[in-house]
Amino acid sequence: MSDRRKFVLDEAKMPTAWYNVQADLPEPLAPPLGPDGNPIGPEMLAPLFPMDLIMQEVSQERYIDIPGAVIDVLRSYRPSPVIRAEQLERDLGLPAGVKIYYKYEGVSPAGSHKPNTAIAQAYYNKQAGIKKLTTETGAGQWGSALSIAGALYGLEVEVFMVKVSYDQKPYRRFLMETYGASVHASPTNLTDAGRHILERDPESPGSLGIAISEAVEAAVKDENAHYALGSVLNHVCLHQTIIGEEAILQMEMAGDEPDVVVACVGGGSNFAGIAFPYFKRRLDGKSSTRLLAVEPKACPTLTAGEYRYDLGDEAGMTPQMKMYTLGHEFVPAGIHAGGLRYHGDSPLVSALVASGDIEATAVNQVECFQAAVQFARAEGILPAPESSHAIRAAIDEALAAKEAGEDKTVLFCLSGHGHFDLSAYEAYNSGNLEDFDYAATPNLCADDV
Ligand SMILES: *Cc1c(COP(=O)(O)O)cnc(C)c1O
Repeated sequence: MSDRRKFVLDEAKMPTAWYNVQADLPEPLAPPLGPDGNPIGPEMLAPLFPMDLIMQEVSQERYIDIPGAVIDVLRSYRPSPVIRAEQLERDLGLPAGVKIYYKYEGVSPAGSHKPNTAIAQAYYNKQAGIKKLTTETGAGQWGSALSIAGALYGLEVEVFMVKVSYDQKPYRRFLMETYGASVHASPTNLTDAGRHILERDPESPGSLGIAISEAVEAAVKDENAHYALGSVLNHVCLHQTIIGEEAILQMEMAGDEPDVVVACVGGGSNFAGIAFPYFKRRLDGKSSTRLLAVEPKACPTLTAGEYRYDLGDEAGMTPQMKMYTLGHEFVPAGIHAGGLRYHGDSPLVSALVASGDIEATAVNQVECFQAAVQFARAEGILPAPESSHAIRAAIDEALAAKEAGEDKTVLFCLSGHGHFDLSAYEAYNSGNLEDFDYAATPNLCADDV
């Protein structure tokens, strides 16, 4: 047995401010555009979000204080550990100069990084006198994080869950309901958007685009309700930077500086969370850390998409944002990493990919599950299928250094555990998992986020 090295920060040393990368972008972010093609002002977002979050969305302040009441709640599972993957290093036969560390976000009550923003969003909405939050979810990771945060702050939570997932993946629904959320199979007959779809197709399996339209409509029509989004937006990336800020302190404890920081990318929030503070560190001349975003080959937004304005959802309810996109009508193949099946990407992450500050790579799902199983057997933690993309790329970075006879320290974000994804592991274990070619992707599957 190895003497496993785990770097746990003292609660008292938890970061007390979020890092806002908008202050350090090579050029200012292109503004979101409304239906008339003009930039939208903060007041247009007011029916959906509390003013504190709208101000964070556009803020140019470099550091934004985390409210003490939010820190108190985050303390129930933060700081999350950084762990040296010593057994994995041995299994890979890495020389002493090649090291792998991971920051484990699966310790949260939802089992992923998503509560880092769900808690902050629920707090600001509660402060603004809001009684209810609406949202969409596919497989249920975001819906369960928001349900937990709603329960903690006494907010009602209404989740529009893509119907095919509602029927096929009931466990996260049971979790949401246990925390007191009401969960509907979308499309519903509760909204105009849902009724419109059902009139045309009573058997519609739903999609994330439809569920977003329903959740936004439900929030707009209820003056006591707001809408919450779990990724992509600037304020969501901001809330996740606590991951990287903690990691910097923990890597100092470990006495190592990462040469490369790796995370998977769906909408970009866990990647932004670990990478943006390291981007700042590099700007300050304290490191030369590379930042590597990893996406699925079945949905290769950063590596094969275009950098341009596009809608955030399929139905056209959201503003247009400048981002890498595969087109808002693109429906990715049904890979098991549901959280990575998004046609677009965070405008902040996109801007830094476009400027060359962030690198991106795409990997196939079978090689990801190989890496996930190797990781689970070495380190004991069963990774979420999304996180397995980061593991694949982290292992490949380490093996490339071994091959080249170079020293390298790799740090990756293990964004969540895979305890609700066992059917995906079953498919892998029984040899029934396949890769999907993006170029040949038919529009065959409802969303799965
Ligand atoms: C939702 C999710 C992701 C993808 O979302 P990002 O916003 O890109 O981080 C990754 N990993 C896990 C475990 C998730 O739940």
